[in-house]
Amino acid sequence: MIGVGQAAKRLGVILVFALVVVAAANLRAEQRPAAAHNTVSPDSCPRSTFRVVVDVGHTLDVPGALSARGVPEYAFNLQLARDAAQALRDAGFEQTALLITGTAPRRGLVERAVRANNMRANLFIAIHHDSVPDNLKQDWEYAGLKNQFNDDYPGYALFISNDNADPAASLQFGSALGHELESRGLRYTPHYTLALMGHRRRILVDAKNGVYRYDQLIVLRQTKMPAVLLEAGSIVNRQEELELGTVERRSLTSAAIVAAVEQFCAARSRPASTRAAAASAH
Ligand SMILES: [Zn+2]
Repeated sequence: MIGVGQAAKRLGVILVFALVVVAAANLRAEQRPAAAHNTVSPDSCPRSTFRVVVDVGHTLDVPGALSARGVPEYAFNLQLARDAAQALRDAGFEQTALLITGTAPRRGLVERAVRANNMRANLFIAIHHDSVPDNLKQDWEYAGLKNQFNDDYPGYALFISNDNADPAASLQFGSALGHELESRGLRYTPHYTLALMGHRRRILVDAKNGVYRYDQLIVLRQTKMPAVLLEAGSIVNRQEELELGTVERRSLTSAAIVAAVEQFCAARSRPASTRAAAASAH
């Protein structure tokens, strides 16, 4: 049996102990930002107000390229863009907007840029899946139907436009996204530099991370915020098409997008003087 006085004394000891624990926890919490002061902490990014527009490439009626097994590109774009937008929201980017357009090109392309501009988006990401020019395709039969494929150029590709309002920041984000994709085991396709690409040949501006220049792209040149187009992989490649259809591949790409957005947002949130110092340190 414990007397009332003794119980009160014990309670007092417990309370003092609890207060010490709370105070210690507070001290640690206060020390944390100070310790991370000189590194680019993703926490310096104002996630709840940073708006990313994830644009679903093509339309339901004009669905883009056909995969090696006859599935329209739009279906791949819609699935990946949905997953990426959800991953961004789950990471705290609540303002993320999924952009679905019903209007056919060219008007539909202008409309995408206008909508992103009106939303005052901080970043524009167009989601596409790659094919090759018709003369590089071969015939094969799948499920009893004639289809076309090209197994030579798997991998993702990123595009930016020097006619965008902020080409330097577009490249910065493109490089960050390429780096995140590479670090997850994905590889970019170098075939856009080849002569056989004809008028689709592009200049590789970041050979490490797979970023090309494509100045004329309407969604990149008419957007007033940094903008990047991602070809997430080749759907005419018979092996990669199967991978691109899996939740695992979409999760991998979505995670790379989230990581790149976090870095980009944090870098943009730093004071201009620190940003310049970081840029010259490269
Ligand atoms: Zn496309």
